[in-house]
Amino acid sequence: MEKRVVALTGDRPTGRLHLGHWVGSLKNRVEMQSAFDQYIMIADVQALTDYFENPQKVMDNVLEVTADYLAVGIDPELSTIFIQSQIPSLSELTTYYMNLVTVSRLERNPTVKAEIAQKAFGESIPCGFFCYPVSQAADITAFKTEVVPVGDDQLPMIELSNEIVRRFNKVYNTDCLKVARAKPGAIGRLVGIDGKAKASKSLGNAIFLSDSPEVIREKVYSMYTDPNHIRVSDPGKVEGNVVFSYLDAFYEDKDELAALKTHYSSGGLGDIVLKSLLDTVLQSRIQPIREKRENLSRKYLLEICLQGSQKAKSVAQKTLQEVKEAIGINFSPLKF
Ligand code: ATP
Ligand code: MG
Repeated sequence: MEKRVVALTGDRPTGRLHLGHWVGSLKNRVEMQSAFDQYIMIADVQALTDYFENPQKVMDNVLEVTADYLAVGIDPELSTIFIQSQIPSLSELTTYYMNLVTVSRLERNPTVKAEIAQKAFGESIPCGFFCYPVSQAADITAFKTEVVPVGDDQLPMIELSNEIVRRFNKVYNTDCLKVARAKPGAIGRLVGIDGKAKASKSLGNAIFLSDSPEVIREKVYSMYTDPNHIRVSDPGKVEGNVVFSYLDAFYEDKDELAALKTHYSSGGLGDIVLKSLLDTVLQSRIQPIREKRENLSRKYLLEICLQGSQKAKSVAQKTLQEVKEAIGINFSPLKF
């Protein structure tokens, strides 16, 4: 069989998936699955690094995330969906890679920095959380990944993974690990409905692919706009206005959108008109996804995850073997 370029991505099962995932990563994955050898990882081990006291939440969300995948069009015949905790080689690879990264390098990672501040760990940062970028390097390299279709919050992780790859190959004089490149979605980062830089499961500021029509409407109408746009006749700010950010991402009529922006900035266009337009746009985008999602049984979803995990396990095992050989960990009786 023709050898195809490997793509890998993943999501933490810390909640259902939202519109940020869709534009930042899922759409790319759907487009890529017929041309790439695509792996999609449900990162339960990574989710436990900050939800270790609440493992039930993580486990409950594994099938929720799987349902979101299938609902947006990820086809388990074309993509390998697997559960991180079922692939023990990933933990072993992480252990070997930890030697190749310094603590100060990990401290400089801007995404981890922002997450540490957001989670208010203070001085008590769990070691597992701090080191999760190293385990991401294990995930990426285990499958010989070359392309990673992620949102731009993940770019520093890929950079770090590539540093580990180069260091490993140099220290152990091998070429068994591959560097990977990121492929951000058309919208690298979708803002939260509260105007925060990123819509995220943990910040509670996202519109989910499974939200009901009422919840979507409520969220759209609560969106942050321009606090100084008080009367309809006032000129409004487009920049930093969440409704426009979402219209940029989801409204297809770009000419009409440009006209709306001009009208809004010069005054005379009210927030309610814009919000009602966005509500209509999002309702029609999310409805088919939500309906597809509702028709998937848990038994079927679990089968998909276990089948995928079986395949991923054997691929990662092979890489681990190569890594151990390169380091020189080889206690085969044939050697002596
Ligand atoms: P958590 O809050 O638990 O970290 P999350 O919402 O950040 O959850 P992840 O599971 O960490 O979601 O991210 C999965 C993928 O989705 C990553 O590739 C990430 O870049 C992408 N992604 C997440 N949120 C956004 C967003 N708001 N815009 C664009 N891409 C996003
Ligand atoms: Mg995240």
